[in-house]
Amino acid sequence: MHVPLILTDFLDRAVKLYGKKTAVIDGDRRLTYEEVNNRVQQLSRGLFDLSIKKGEKVAYLAPNTLEMYEGFYGVFQTGGVMTSLNTRLRPEDYIFILNHSESQVLFVDYSLYEQVKVIKDHLETVKTIIVHGMDEDSNGDISYEKWLAGFSSSAVERVPLEETDIASLLYTSGTTGNPKGVMLTHRSNYLHALTTMHHLRVSDQDTLLHVLPMFHVNGWGSPFYYTANGVTQVMQRKIEPASMLENIRREKVTVAHMAPTVLNMLIEEYALMKEPYKLSQDMRVVIAGSAPPPAFVKRIEEDLGWEFVQVYGMTETSPLVSTSIPLSEQNGIDSESLHRLKAKQGYQMIGTDLRVFDENGEDVPRDGKTAGELAVRSNNVMEGYWKNLEATRATIREGYLYTGDMANVDADGYVEIVDRKKDVIISGGENISSIEVEGCLYDHPAVLEAAVVSVPHEKWGEVPHAIVVLREKDGATEEELMEFARTHLARFKVPKGITFTEELPKTASGKIQKVQLRKPFWEGKD
Ligand code: ATP
Ligand code: MG
Repeated sequence: MHVPLILTDFLDRAVKLYGKKTAVIDGDRRLTYEEVNNRVQQLSRGLFDLSIKKGEKVAYLAPNTLEMYEGFYGVFQTGGVMTSLNTRLRPEDYIFILNHSESQVLFVDYSLYEQVKVIKDHLETVKTIIVHGMDEDSNGDISYEKWLAGFSSSAVERVPLEETDIASLLYTSGTTGNPKGVMLTHRSNYLHALTTMHHLRVSDQDTLLHVLPMFHVNGWGSPFYYTANGVTQVMQRKIEPASMLENIRREKVTVAHMAPTVLNMLIEEYALMKEPYKLSQDMRVVIAGSAPPPAFVKRIEEDLGWEFVQVYGMTETSPLVSTSIPLSEQNGIDSESLHRLKAKQGYQMIGTDLRVFDENGEDVPRDGKTAGELAVRSNNVMEGYWKNLEATRATIREGYLYTGDMANVDADGYVEIVDRKKDVIISGGENISSIEVEGCLYDHPAVLEAAVVSVPHEKWGEVPHAIVVLREKDGATEEELMEFARTHLARFKVPKGITFTEELPKTASGKIQKVQLRKPFWEGKD
């Protein structure tokens, strides 16, 4: 008999097996799985009271908090769809996403409430705004705790669901254009959780520090696979290295996922500590995406003593496609090769089929050199983009999701992301990876940040151009950097010009927006 895979299973399991164990720590608040579950029942009753029906969208605008965590299960019990807003977006992005998603209710953390007041009059479908951490109702908006207290915590009758029903509507980062609404089913989120908990070897002995925001796909899965294993989950509201280190020490954290930049901040802070305790004591693994260099991997593994795992994925794949686990010295790999391999994007997850296609739709050879567009087939792949059939058709073709990322795969099956397809520079018929050129510039001590984009060129069609932020004003000249690039790169890859700037434009998830950087060079040209 077929049992539908519904995400509410995970909390049910934790309540049965780990009911008295601490589930969530958020500042001074510590709640057991039973206590969280009681609040989840109240929340679902509240949503029923607001007439939320199957398939309707409930939006969250919050950092990592107890309230955001309970939102997932409270919403799923009603058959509703959870959608979220990145807390660093601009007001016009909030308006776009809330209206585009047709959200009915908006839950917002008090720290972000001012931003909601400004956009309130522009919301077309949101009927109710409920504010976490606000003591009294105000401006017609509702205090979450007062509202919740009005509902019973006895088990609610759930709306029956199929595993193919949509659970999550998650917006992409908008790095290459407008954010797109990705529809993920209970089944895809569920199977993603099962494979991820296996790959990361999650167990009930773990304590998680929720650093990656739950509002973004990278943190979205954590409430599922850690809950299923009865893991204690510490909410990191703000990215403050000192408070992160304190949480790691006090709660004996064993696992954390974070962006390499955040990991870097943590290392710097640790180095400054007057009486450093042995950080590696409890922490068994730290997980990060976004292609960190091998030296960085070495620093984590050797200086801090944490196992480093690289993951690669995207919103459209729930998100994980590949991970560098189980690479380890146990497999007979020496430590230098290990760090080099871990700086790649890893091996495909269980249940994932990867292909790399050239422009003619032929598979490229698996030689660790030849790049093509990475395409993925797996249970984690989205149903499509919400209200954007054209983009869905362009992305999912003949059963494969085209990632828009250029990659090569070696004979052992390890994936290396070379560049985003839109960022590859085609100069006189040669493909240049903007990431490779940036990597070279980053090796120069004066360079803090670098982005390489294509600019038009009469002879070569396009050529690379670098936009650079220096660590210190006048820390290097254009000619010095070009000379440095000439000694490390093939001639045709050397940027033909360098512009210095003070800051690079970034998306709310911290990715450099090359589209914006490219634009002024191409105006009136394409
Ligand atoms: P949009 O699709 O709106 O342009 P986005 O692609 O940045 O934005 P996300 O889904 O958040 O939105 O990001 C997925 C992308 O992030 C991948 O397609 C890839 O380009 C990049 N990425 C993810 N993990 C890694 C990694 N480990 N190494 C290199 N790049 C990565
Ligand atoms: Mg994308």
